[in-house]
Amino acid sequence: MAKECVFCRIVSGELPGEVVYQDESFLAFRDVSPQAPTHVLIVPKEHITSLADLTDEQEELAERLVTLARHVAQGEGIAKDGYRLVINCGPEGGQEVPHLHLHLLGGRRLSGRLG
Ligand code: AMP
Repeated sequence: MAKECVFCRIVSGELPGEVVYQDESFLAFRDVSPQAPTHVLIVPKEHITSLADLTDEQEELAERLVTLARHVAQGEGIAKDGYRLVINCGPEGGQEVPHLHLHLLGGRRLSGRLG
């Protein structure tokens, strides 16, 4: 846990979060500023700064993140119509919170623009 990290503080329960799923290793909660009717963030509970900081031993975690997003999408009822998964990585990737997270967006037709 990183003391100053907003997502670590949500994981620990120190800050509120609208949790939609959790297990031993991951937490999924609603984005405070949703960009779509469904906007869920999925984070590893362990503090990892970004996708670029994953070690070889942690690579499986990225796979599990995507699998979990598939399940949350099903739970949110958006799997059939479709959704978008986004991981911003580092300053040029537009990452604002330095704790690895995956955005699950859906519930409306998303624009074709990616950047
Ligand atoms: P990124 O730009 O990929 O780092 O995305 C960070 C996301 O975290 C943004 O979509 C924010 O709206 C969201 N966010 C920041 N603080 C909170 C919070 N306390 N609870 C839920 N979502 C948050």
